[in-house]
Amino acid sequence: MIDVHCHLQDKVFDNNRDKVIERARKAGVKYIITSAINPEEVSKALEIVRKYEGYVKLTIGHDPTLVSKDVFEEQIRYVTRNLKVIVGIGEVGLDYWYVRDHDLRELQKKFFIEWIEVARTYDLPLVIHSRSAGKYAIKVLLENKFYDAVMHAYDGSVGYAMEAAKYGIKFSIPPSVTYSLQKQKLVKKLSLEDLLLETDSPVLPPVKGERNEPANIVYSAKKIAEIKNVDFEKVVEITTENALNVFKRLRK
Ligand SMILES: [Zn+2]
Repeated sequence: MIDVHCHLQDKVFDNNRDKVIERARKAGVKYIITSAINPEEVSKALEIVRKYEGYVKLTIGHDPTLVSKDVFEEQIRYVTRNLKVIVGIGEVGLDYWYVRDHDLRELQKKFFIEWIEVARTYDLPLVIHSRSAGKYAIKVLLENKFYDAVMHAYDGSVGYAMEAAKYGIKFSIPPSVTYSLQKQKLVKKLSLEDLLLETDSPVLPPVKGERNEPANIVYSAKKIAEIKNVDFEKVVEITTENALNVFKRLRK
């Protein structure tokens, strides 16, 4: 299994990151992709990637709730400076849950479109954050004809997801699928070929209120197997293949 999106540099892991990674290995996680989305996170994430070289991989993005030109430009610099290290760009996108102001949303969208162009320039996939903005984020991707993207923890309507999937846009499913009816519906309607696994650790655990970690990706795979009525091994095989197709640099 490949955890295509989590936040391993989060301080909640500072005291026990070794153990967290050990448990992930034991659970059958082949790679962990951690996502660094603000300037403070990048240097810490780079250290972690160096320490667990070959196992922890990195995407650099821009937290959409930080609607700031300075942060945006700094994150772009981090991406261009670390092109040899990163396996993708993300998370980037839209957040209409925290950002309610119309002008700020417009600025978010402007940054998002610029990130799409950065991804296109360097031929890197995008990991998309779209809290309470699923259909808007998909609309931006389709309007800009960019399909090399993973909608992470998508909380929007299944109809828009199915439309996006027609273009090859993928969806990564977090362990909260164990209780989230919206995620369960998403899994039911999309095909296994559209799905990847993620944990979004330390958030979106299989049981509300707990701290999440990459080993819990097993819960995503098990629930998908149950919903699709296929073997767990088949879910692992296909979602891993899907992840390797999106994050091509993992094959090297
Ligand atoms: Zn995240």
